[in-house]
Amino acid sequence: MSIENEHHFSSRLQSTQWIIAARWYYGPLAYVLGIMMPDESATSHPVFVLTFAFLLLLASNAFFFYTLRTKGEEMGEHQFDILNRSQIAVDLVFFFLTMILTTGGVGNLGHSFFFIPIVVSVILFGFRGSITVAVASGALVFLSVFLHVEVFNIFFIEDQYFEWSHELLQSLIHASIIFLLYLLIGYFGGYISRLLSMRDQLLFDQMRKDALQVRRLEELTREFDQSAKLLVRRDLQLSAANEKLTQLDKMKSEIISIVAHQLRTPLSAIKWTLKILIDGDVGPVTPEQKDLLSKGFESNERMIGLVNDVLAVDKLESGKLKYEFIPVQFEDLVQDMIRSLLPIATQQNIRVEFSSPEQLLPRIKVDPDKMHDVLQNLIDNAIKYTRSGGVVSVGVAMDRSLLHFWVTDNGIGIPDSEKNKIFSRFFRANNAVHTKTEGSGLGLFIAQSVVKRHGGEIWFESVVDVGTTFHVTLPFSG
Ligand code: ADP
Repeated sequence: MSIENEHHFSSRLQSTQWIIAARWYYGPLAYVLGIMMPDESATSHPVFVLTFAFLLLLASNAFFFYTLRTKGEEMGEHQFDILNRSQIAVDLVFFFLTMILTTGGVGNLGHSFFFIPIVVSVILFGFRGSITVAVASGALVFLSVFLHVEVFNIFFIEDQYFEWSHELLQSLIHASIIFLLYLLIGYFGGYISRLLSMRDQLLFDQMRKDALQVRRLEELTREFDQSAKLLVRRDLQLSAANEKLTQLDKMKSEIISIVAHQLRTPLSAIKWTLKILIDGDVGPVTPEQKDLLSKGFESNERMIGLVNDVLAVDKLESGKLKYEFIPVQFEDLVQDMIRSLLPIATQQNIRVEFSSPEQLLPRIKVDPDKMHDVLQNLIDNAIKYTRSGGVVSVGVAMDRSLLHFWVTDNGIGIPDSEKNKIFSRFFRANNAVHTKTEGSGLGLFIAQSVVKRHGGEIWFESVVDVGTTFHVTLPFSG
């Protein structure tokens, strides 16, 4: 059964139950009113007939009640119709008898009981049913009038003729008014019932839509639950993978650290051996030999620098690096650094400018050794990645409560696509790799970590083939 049919069926079942229950009250009420004013002229035993009719009403109501209770759930549309029509027929017969057996015929209270079956039919059958029952009730009222004036005697008694009487005319007018009243009640009742059923339909549609929505929500919740479970599982897998990676990373760091330490001793041995040879301490060397030995010495120096960088990163990451903050005159640190790098700059035909602040800056607390590495890396990079004839400008200034240090060059620049990786370990931009083959990609990583440890910030602006500026700010209060 579709939801709509189910809804229709259950509302019909409910209305029928409700009317059967109501009959237990309005039946006795009509009976009591009837026996209070019996029409002695109508029959010799009005109370007896009325009581008999009442008992029949009770018995049929009990039958309806029983049928509905035992078979109500399986009843089809047609069986329902029969049950409901029987109910209305029983009511009509009972009220008709009440009407004709009580005083005054059409003038008495009896006809008002017909409102009940009309209303009942509104509930059970809607517009058409209510009009039909209104017409039937009107017909019964007319019948009662004719019975009252014994019109039908002309068919059964000889020499009996139909005669108009004032009483008959009055009763007919009265009956017509009541008939009209029934029609009006039937019409309006039906009209209201139609409105109500439309509203019911609207509500039902809404309910169905809501139910659909609820079902969809339930489905979504189920999907969400599954996704959540999947996520938890993924999370566990990722955690396991992460743990493994951390372990591998630790192992890798340990290996790098061991290798770097092991390399340091032979590299220093090579350094000193080459130095002794270059200085001619063990015998004279030809200029050609000296040139070759110097190149070897430089390469060895770069190797030592690389190993030192690797060891510095290892120290940084393992947290073994100790910081010692002491107040320094920052401009002095910068000037010393420029001075030490000047020979390389001159060698590459690069001019280095320094714009010192007009007034002496307040002393700032830094770890001079670590800050030395930062300055060296930034100025050295600027020189390294600028072509011959270029200019590198270094500056220090006070910017509100911060110390601002910058290095600008008009070198190769950093490509936009690689800007976000510049501070990562071992990262070197493509254009840098082509220009300078040597380089570890560790300098900026170390510089960033040192600046952050000082509570400062490091960033850059760069345009390829135009130049780059690196900025560092450090808090005076740090
Ligand atoms: P390295 O210089 O040894 O390659 P760094 O960590 O110091 O490593 O720098 C990382 C990368 O950042 C460089 O390889 C280069 O691509 C880029 N870079 C740094 N400074 C500059 C600069 N002044 N001009 C252009 N590129 C730079």
